[in-house]
Amino acid sequence: MDYANNILETIGNTPMVKINTLVSELPCLVLAKYETFNPGNSVKDRMALQMVEDAEAAGILKPGGTIIEGTSGNTGMGLALAAVVKGYKMICVISDKQSKEKIDILQAMGSKVYVCPTDVAPDDPRSYYSTAKRLSTEIPNSWYVNQYENPSNTKAHYLTTGPEIWKQTDGKITHFVVGVGTGGTISGVGKYLKEQNPNIKVWGVDTYGSVFKKYHETGIFDENEIYPYITEGIGEDILPKNVDFDIIDGFTKVTDKDAAIYTRRLAREEGMFLGNSAGAAIKGVLQLQEHFTKDDVVVVLFHDHGSRYVGKMFNDDWMREKGFIE
Ligand code: PMP
Repeated sequence: MDYANNILETIGNTPMVKINTLVSELPCLVLAKYETFNPGNSVKDRMALQMVEDAEAAGILKPGGTIIEGTSGNTGMGLALAAVVKGYKMICVISDKQSKEKIDILQAMGSKVYVCPTDVAPDDPRSYYSTAKRLSTEIPNSWYVNQYENPSNTKAHYLTTGPEIWKQTDGKITHFVVGVGTGGTISGVGKYLKEQNPNIKVWGVDTYGSVFKKYHETGIFDENEIYPYITEGIGEDILPKNVDFDIIDGFTKVTDKDAAIYTRRLAREEGMFLGNSAGAAIKGVLQLQEHFTKDDVVVVLFHDHGSRYVGKMFNDDWMREKGFIE
């Protein structure tokens, strides 16, 4: 018989899939590390499990405890899976920008969900960062995960995602392109790949309204770069500890409109039903095309599944309301 002992054992070992029509103008091979095959439908299952198991090993998370996280949904889903299988309670604190589907899914997995305003400063007591921190001091036997600063986030990608990409490309990868939020994916994968071959270039995809690109280029944390944006999952108004700027060669910024349109194009032209940051990531690859030559192997990572965005980018009324289509 061939079976996993529980759903957590199915995390990782996701497929690598060639992108065809959308990148036909590029001279090189473009491959997608297709993370929706994880049981929670996103790459975040990997780091969620790593953070929980490292907290258990360190004695920070104890039997019957409550896991608390400020999460845009995918990390919450990964943590909820781990909580169900391992017998913990789960609280997710999220911002009101997130799709209703994400909230419904977390509740379906037995999580309690608190919704906080998006457009307040991170240190405002109403922000989701502050609320998650406060709850963790009020609720006994609870653990605040803090994916932005938790080193197990980056470690998960260094131990699993990075080695899988290296093996699946037979060591031929030349460029890695990925959206950046907490920074765990780019930092862990980037570090592993550059240890195997220091010539590999690592590019981050950022969004307008986020601080990463300017900070990487100038070393200045410029508050003028911060304003509300629509793209989900990438960009920040803080500098998370998990972003290792030294292993990143550069950032490219993708507009909300392009991210939405390319999310739809991935579905209709490649049969890839993916989340909003995948649209940003593939548009990022196209924006970087001057860096690629014939023999290059470009790997782009797709973080999450389209089902979480059916009421948004995949909905024509929503697209018209935002001015993204006629
Ligand atoms: N895309 C989506 C949909 C996400 O949920 C996240 C995590 N915030 C990212 C991209 C960015 O990944 P990371 O946090 O590892 O930088």
